[in-house]
Amino acid sequence: MPSNVSRESNDGTESAPFYEALAKALKKRKAKLESICPSSDPTSKRILEEYGAIFVANKKVLPPPVCVFTNEEQVTKFQEDAGWDVEKFGFDDVELQPEAMKQLKKAREEAQKEGLDITPRDGSEAARRNYEDSVRLWNSRFEPALDYWLGQGRLTQEQVDRLRSLPLSQQVAEVLELEKSGIYFSKDLSKSILYSIAAPGASQHIAMLAFDVNQFENPRIREIMAKHGWFQTVLSDLPHFTFLGLKEKDLPKHGLRSLEINGQVFWIPNVSAVHPGLDK
Ligand SMILES: [Zn+2]
Repeated sequence: MPSNVSRESNDGTESAPFYEALAKALKKRKAKLESICPSSDPTSKRILEEYGAIFVANKKVLPPPVCVFTNEEQVTKFQEDAGWDVEKFGFDDVELQPEAMKQLKKAREEAQKEGLDITPRDGSEAARRNYEDSVRLWNSRFEPALDYWLGQGRLTQEQVDRLRSLPLSQQVAEVLELEKSGIYFSKDLSKSILYSIAAPGASQHIAMLAFDVNQFENPRIREIMAKHGWFQTVLSDLPHFTFLGLKEKDLPKHGLRSLEINGQVFWIPNVSAVHPGLDK
């Protein structure tokens, strides 16, 4: 069967390829894939296929107008358009798009009724981030990895200097290229940097649709989050939850497929893609 059409599985649940579901979702929002994520740009395609779940989120939230923001002004404009609510979780301010916040609060109340809790990991950085945050976090992985691979003799000083001097979009492209030969930039240097931190300007936190949860290891917490439309959608980023506002049983028809790693279920774009460092 061609991979570009929906198919129905034995149990009657419909599943759609990501690009088909995405086209539908964007059409409802009067947006076009080419202007959001030009297919001619391999970096933005890769980013879409790793973090693209937010683009099929329900209509009560606003996904970003681009796969990769390139400056702070663009991010500020988008965040103002989308709007956000602020809530105190303990001492920390959590900022999310209003519908995402509403459902997170419901999830937290449900957890608290059971004697559990849902709290932000790393304070206010757990939710909304700006462009500058995403660049700083990128560098927190990029820089140590450069030093490591230089020490290992896998990169020369010239290569390192050159990589540092590149404009960000080119830097990301070259890092992803190096990772194809096993020169990984994640925190533990064992997998793609994209499973450790988002490319600058591409974070779901910028979209204000992501929340990092301290209690991610508790299966009941994951269940409660899912019940309120929050799912793990970035492979290997365990504390990171994404607001989609959809029912879990409906995710396949919205172009997502589930992948279970060490007992945790990730909902990722239904594309045939390689996952550098994770496909063993
Ligand atoms: Zn996160």
